Amino acid sequence: MAATPIDLRSDTVTKPSPEMRRAMAEAEVGDDVFMEDPTVNRLQARAAEIFGREAALFVPSGSMGNLVCLIAHTRPGQEVICDENAHIYSYEMAAMAGVAGLLPRLVPGEDGILTWEQISRAIRPRMYARAQTALVCLENTHNMAGGTVYPTRLAQEICERAHEAGLLVHLDGSRIFNAATFLHEHVRGMTGKFDSVQFCLSKGLGAPVGSMIVGSGALIERCRSIRKLLGGGMRQAGVLAAAGLIALEKGPQRLGIDHENATLLAHELARMPGIRLNPAKVQTNIVIYDVRETGLSSAEFLAESARRGVLGVPVDRDKIRMVTHLDVSRADVERVAAAICELAESLSLSRASAPMKNA
Ligand SMILES: *Cc1c(COP(=O)(O)O)cnc(C)c1O
Repeated sequence: MAATPIDLRSDTVTKPSPEMRRAMAEAEVGDDVFMEDPTVNRLQARAAEIFGREAALFVPSGSMGNLVCLIAHTRPGQEVICDENAHIYSYEMAAMAGVAGLLPRLVPGEDGILTWEQISRAIRPRMYARAQTALVCLENTHNMAGGTVYPTRLAQEICERAHEAGLLVHLDGSRIFNAATFLHEHVRGMTGKFDSVQFCLSKGLGAPVGSMIVGSGALIERCRSIRKLLGGGMRQAGVLAAAGLIALEKGPQRLGIDHENATLLAHELARMPGIRLNPAKVQTNIVIYDVRETGLSSAEFLAESARRGVLGVPVDRDKIRMVTHLDVSRADVERVAAAICELAESLSLSRASAPMKNA
């Protein structure tokens, strides 16, 4: 068993680099509720510039960033169209309903990717007894579909058609830089038509804390008040923004390494007995595989992996998610593959010998 486990539970487990620690220690700070923290202001200006928008807002988490945008764009009692496995629907404490008072209208995307055809069918007709659709929310990359990427033309078409239908469009772009790396495109062109974008500094980009919202000046002003309403007004947040700035400038450049490592892991896993996945579908840094045929549930399989020094998370009873990130090297991925291969082969042997015992 490895001394320190190789942690593939999420790309959020990354620790701040020595450079980030230094920048945090030396950050110039002020009270950000008075908008007087120079480091937060620099981070916000830089994020707005990179995305080609008027303004940006630093928020404590991706969940808060998404919720702030949902509240900014809607009134209670309205509907939001999203994929059936969207993070805002399944992993954000139902804040959409419980806090924003919104009704999710779910659409089954193919690998998490929605089409305008599907979305248009989910828009409520304008009848007095029907709740009205206010917003469409897309997720790029799509987490629980395995890090899948929206073709830019499709995302743009959805935004254009939604706007024609009088709807707004929010992008949960927590891993938008992973999508940009896969597409060899710039986030500015990929996201310019969305009414708001949330992206995480705290995932593959490597910051310890924080997300950004980008959009128009008017939207960001509204979002600042809603962030305060939710208790997300921070004071000398420059110590966090200093790490965020380094994540934003340097994080995107190395995401291709994580993608190569995820592809390697996927190809290795696909050859193991009882493990099912299609490695051709792994586009970014997330690998989801099915272990049903090993005879174990995902939780049981993960407990066995953990004993061999490898950590992942269950997606459902049969599926496991593993995420590559900057604290995982290619050699680590090779160790992960070897450990899981040993586990899968031992389970396969015990299955093959089971009928003998019964005979
Ligand atoms: C991680 C993530 C978020 C936000 O997560 P926080 O933990 O609140 O920062 C939102 N959407 C997706 C798709 C994510 O992967």
